[in-house]
Amino acid sequence: MALAAGPETQKGRMVIRNIGLMLSGRLEDPILDADTVVAEGGRIVAVGREKDCDIGEVRVTIDAHGCALAPGLIDSHVHPVFGDWTPRQNQFGWIESTLHGGVTTMVSAGEVHLPGRPRDIVGLKALAITAQRTYDNFRPGGVKVLAGAPVIERGMVESDFAELAAAGVKLLGEVGLGSVKAGYEAREMVAWARKYGIQSTIHTGGPSVPGSGYIDAATVLEADADIIGHINGGHTALPLSQIRCLCEGCGRGIEIVHNGNELAGLSALRFARELGQLERVILGTDGPAGSGVQPLGILRMIAMLSSLGDTKAEVMFCCATGNTARMRDLDCGIVEIGRSADFVMMDRAQHSSGTDLLDSVEKGDLPGVGMVVIDGIVRCGRSRNTPPADRVPEILHG
Ligand SMILES: [Zn+2]
Repeated sequence: MALAAGPETQKGRMVIRNIGLMLSGRLEDPILDADTVVAEGGRIVAVGREKDCDIGEVRVTIDAHGCALAPGLIDSHVHPVFGDWTPRQNQFGWIESTLHGGVTTMVSAGEVHLPGRPRDIVGLKALAITAQRTYDNFRPGGVKVLAGAPVIERGMVESDFAELAAAGVKLLGEVGLGSVKAGYEAREMVAWARKYGIQSTIHTGGPSVPGSGYIDAATVLEADADIIGHINGGHTALPLSQIRCLCEGCGRGIEIVHNGNELAGLSALRFARELGQLERVILGTDGPAGSGVQPLGILRMIAMLSSLGDTKAEVMFCCATGNTARMRDLDCGIVEIGRSADFVMMDRAQHSSGTDLLDSVEKGDLPGVGMVVIDGIVRCGRSRNTPPADRVPEILHG
């Protein structure tokens, strides 16, 4: 069932205690020495050892029973259209199903799957504003969908970007999915967008579906969008030499997606690590595209990149949370005071060969999600999608 939900209004605090492993989402200190987190009004108000936390008037207490807590996962690359329906695969409930994969925020890379989407300028602006409004008003399962990402077309002028920004649009859809495909054209519009506070993403690699285009590394570098969208292709990747050029040639976000080329994704992670720039790596699914809806897509990326990419699991969790929040200027993604109280609680899946959560992920297994919290409200208990874990958080009262 998809529930509409806004920010928390209930009085009193949410206390989550007995957390066995606190993942911060920050690369600088990915594991915190803490077992308790307290939230009020949808925000984190305390993090630390239980004896040191000001618990205050409690609305709900959750015993984590030793499970790990991480910031809610952020999918940096999705293509929503309207509500919790995707016309690409004609599925309902895909966003709420993704909540059960630990995702609490999704970022639209363009509402491009709308059948008959308008390509005229007034039409594309109207669609973007409508998408921004509808997802601001409606959160499937409680998931925050940041949408309203227009696909730029030839003929747009600076005032179009000013108008979009004034109307509340904060994102551009993937550059290259419309008629603007040349680097110099994209660069001018990306700069206009940036001037008005609109963040940009560019399609990278071969065409995703019939009708989209090929964007090579030179074009990506010339356009200078904020995020190198699906650097590992969506689906068709650039040659690894060009992916290395992209990592070395700019400081923009390195987005690796589930529905892309896995070898290219692993290579991009390695290039970023060799550059000492893992803080640029962010994760998405590119769902629902040709490869479909991936409710566990972000967890699968974490496990794949950690196990095959020789990267600590706690570091990969940062790539799916704090890195994305920093690069996209979001108020979630990190467990620290003042941030949005969006959490996923999880544990080692039953019968994993790993000894604990992190070890199991580093061996390629998915964790079992036991509870998801958004804005300090429990949105689901034991996930219906992940493998079950031995330990599951419990609501003691509330
Ligand atoms: Zn794309």
